[in-house]
Amino acid sequence: SEPILKVEHLKKYFVAGGGFLGGNQRVIKAVDDVSFTLLPGETLGLVGESGCGKSTTGRTVLRLYEPTDGRIIFEGADITNLSGRELLPYRRKMQMIFQDPYASLDSRMTVGDIVSEPLDIHHLASGKEREEQVRSLLERVGLKPEYASRYPHEFSGGQRQRIGIARALAVRPRFIVCDEPISALDVSIQAQVVNMLEDLQEEFALTYLFIAHDLSMVKHISTRIGVMYLGKLVELGQSDQLYHDPQHPYTKALLSAIPVPNPKAKKERIVLQGDVPSPLNPPSGCPFRTRCPHAMKVCAEVEPRLQNISDERQVACHLFR
Ligand code: SF4
Ligand code: MG
Repeated sequence: SEPILKVEHLKKYFVAGGGFLGGNQRVIKAVDDVSFTLLPGETLGLVGESGCGKSTTGRTVLRLYEPTDGRIIFEGADITNLSGRELLPYRRKMQMIFQDPYASLDSRMTVGDIVSEPLDIHHLASGKEREEQVRSLLERVGLKPEYASRYPHEFSGGQRQRIGIARALAVRPRFIVCDEPISALDVSIQAQVVNMLEDLQEEFALTYLFIAHDLSMVKHISTRIGVMYLGKLVELGQSDQLYHDPQHPYTKALLSAIPVPNPKAKKERIVLQGDVPSPLNPPSGCPFRTRCPHAMKVCAEVEPRLQNISDERQVACHLFR
């Protein structure tokens, strides 16, 4: 089938300290030439350490940020440069679930108003019908309909995340960016929320871009996984294959940080040294070379491009030339 989303050479640059691009300001290349496609009903997991551009990618794809360059094609339409009014019908089809359910909910609004606000913005329901939709949305995410008259602070983190999910679902979107939706939750309820997102995906035929810093969090829900480092995609592949047979040294390092059930299992352990370099001053050549155990001379000189190493796998690394 046709992709629901095509992202082509997407770039999002910020000027350090604010201001406009151009001139001699220092530029942060938060997203730097990222391309991927999503098929309807698919989940693309996006992983990497914090500051690697995952959230910025998600927000730019939704046009919450202005893209610096590249193209965003949603359901066959180029939405890269649409203005506010032209974007409105697409905004309805593309929603976001945020990492911090508390910060993303307006504490002065009732749960009912929070969930129904998107219905108002898009003039989808009012009066009794609106009330009825709020009740059924709350029920669908496992909350009591009576909660509509309460305020966000009366709820736990997991319940608040459910409120955020109900709000995202209100307009019947086709595509949702889930930006670390479980990272802030207790481990005990992370699985519940992921399972619920999977059920909702099937019920509402949703497509997800699912962002996480940990590969183990996205492995089960994702069809494919993309690994980002310093604003670039360094590996992209089918979820199971990428998880069991990582190719890029950074993916290997991310995976070896996950505890193994059997410590005797032979596994190459790579410990990531130091932090992600400052995006204000990224390394020449390969962005990962300052932390890569396999770095060679060419890695400092030439930036490796994302290329197919098999039908289902793309890797950006000089080891695969
Ligand atoms: Fe390591 Fe070089 Fe590959 Fe970069 S291109 S990941 S530095 S081997
Ligand atoms: Mg983030």
